[in-house]
Amino acid sequence: MQSLWNDTEAATFGNDLLGQRVYTSRLLGRNPQLVLHGGGNTSVKVTEKDFFGDSVDVCYVKGSGWDLATIEREGFSPVRMEALIKMSKLATMSDEDMVLQQRVAMTNPNAPAASIEAILHAILPFRFVDHSHANAISALTCSSDGEARVKEIYGDRVIVVPYVMPGFILAKTIADLIAGRDLRKEGIQGMVLLKHGLFTFDDDAKKSYELHIEMVTQAEEYLAKKGKPAAKAEASEDLLALAKLRRAVSLKRGFPQIARLSASPEAVGYAGISKVAEFGTRGPLTPDHSIRTKRAPAYIGDDLEASVQKFADDYAAYFNRHAKGQTMLDPAPRFAIWPGKGIVSFGDTVKDAKIVADISESTAATVQLGESAGGWEPLPEKDIFEIEYWDLEQAKLRKGPARKIHQGKVALVTGCAAGIGFAIAESLAEQGAQVVGLDIDKDIPEIMKKIGGIGIVVNLTEDQPVQDAIDFTVREFGGIDIVVSNAGIFPKNDQLDVMAQTDWDRTIMINLTSHQKLMNKVIPFVKQGLDASIIFVGSRNFKAPGPGASAYSCSKAALTQLCRVAALELAPHKIRVNIVHPDAVFDTKLWTPEALEKSAARYGMTVDEYKTKNLMKVEIKSKDIGNMVSAMAGPLFSKVTGAQIPVDGGNDRVI
Ligand code: ZN
Repeated sequence: MQSLWNDTEAATFGNDLLGQRVYTSRLLGRNPQLVLHGGGNTSVKVTEKDFFGDSVDVCYVKGSGWDLATIEREGFSPVRMEALIKMSKLATMSDEDMVLQQRVAMTNPNAPAASIEAILHAILPFRFVDHSHANAISALTCSSDGEARVKEIYGDRVIVVPYVMPGFILAKTIADLIAGRDLRKEGIQGMVLLKHGLFTFDDDAKKSYELHIEMVTQAEEYLAKKGKPAAKAEASEDLLALAKLRRAVSLKRGFPQIARLSASPEAVGYAGISKVAEFGTRGPLTPDHSIRTKRAPAYIGDDLEASVQKFADDYAAYFNRHAKGQTMLDPAPRFAIWPGKGIVSFGDTVKDAKIVADISESTAATVQLGESAGGWEPLPEKDIFEIEYWDLEQAKLRKGPARKIHQGKVALVTGCAAGIGFAIAESLAEQGAQVVGLDIDKDIPEIMKKIGGIGIVVNLTEDQPVQDAIDFTVREFGGIDIVVSNAGIFPKNDQLDVMAQTDWDRTIMINLTSHQKLMNKVIPFVKQGLDASIIFVGSRNFKAPGPGASAYSCSKAALTQLCRVAALELAPHKIRVNIVHPDAVFDTKLWTPEALEKSAARYGMTVDEYKTKNLMKVEIKSKDIGNMVSAMAGPLFSKVTGAQIPVDGGNDRVI
């Protein structure tokens, strides 16, 4: 492992102690082998003047909710040293009291809550303290001879700390270990917390950070000599099976989950190791990870549903072995080892699933190394249970925003570069769906980025590109729950006797046949969807046709019939199929102000009159259609199928 310290870069963070603390914290955070997603913590002790000009000793500790990789000055909580030291001398202290007293002792009440390791940081008699959950330290210490290995590698440079629960108990344990000692005189530079992580300390920021790098490197070198390099293998892809697995896991979780398949040669290699089902499910690298990943992953055998069920049964048994009055969390796995396929990670959002993926891939590599270097022996499940059901940890997870209607769902929307299609994609995304938009417009990737979606340039009348886009969606997110089949054109108005055959053919191809082709390819995946729903975008023209629009009206009438047949075919699979019939939506690309004026004049109306020429005299906007379609894909319509919903302000020919 290399030190990332750079003098020029360091200077940009300021020469004061807190500035240096921010810089080296970020250096730790930059290396995923050291900390991942909010893991680890750091501190610096300073003497500063308070509001009244009095000197006060303060320990700036990483605030909760901040990530070392991106931390700023404001990410550190200033806690009075005097209070922290006093707390360390108490015989016992509840978690609630500790959190409360740390807050009381902050010199800035608006700073984030201090890390639960604040007391521990305070009692270490060095200016800078760095703590990580380095993979190599896990691989080294999650072993029956972990302590002996640490002594062999580091000698007397470190204090070895047996595993105890983080928080007050850990601080107290270390206070006892260092009581009456002069760590400087003894040449102590760090602490190895067995099955947890590494601390290094020094009065100099660079020195403390580089000690960390040096000690992790020593562990890496030791393991490289004893362990085997990562296994590698090629994946055999089965997207339908992935969608089935996502469905099984989501049903256990109680909510739709995004599934991310890692099919890297390393992930597939790991999943294919003969005894991985046993050693790969023994436990996490560090207790902290279990909050995101649970204690162990699922192992997926030939029967996907049975494998997920077995995980749930094992989880319930684990809960019952250790629970003392707690309520069981959901029994769904957060990641799964899948022979031949790789590692699958699950989450409420793509962001959550990616965090789990980072941890699970890191876990796989480290577990393999640990097992091959002398046996992987992580924390016993009793200790993991204490962390998983620890109130302070549960509080971190509860903090998130309320769940949105389509959270965890994957939506495929066609023809969404502008107008009604874009409004639909936007409404679905606003309600939490992960949207993939297909359009022939070459700007669709940029357009979908605006709503956090992915856009793919596709000509929907061609077979292979449509199949590729569907496959991409499942590979990326695990399945498809909502399909909005919207793509359509409005050809030139021509009477039947003069209409070009090509206009007719093209309209039928795009407005009807492309939808049928999409259904043909997407339905197998939608059958594995969660609360699955298909929505077509029709037109008022179906029930109220106009002269000169035969191709458009006929295609929309046939599309309506396609919807009705699909509703009949898919009802046994609990898939809802409905159609929305918009009319007179003028805030689209087709309608320039000039075109609007021309059309209004033809009816002898002002533009405003023309825009609201419906029974209710209201203007229909793209967003009205977007919101309606989003509602139709949601729980309000959970028992509605085969319905045709006009969004037209009332039309006497339709009513
Ligand atoms: Zn830790």
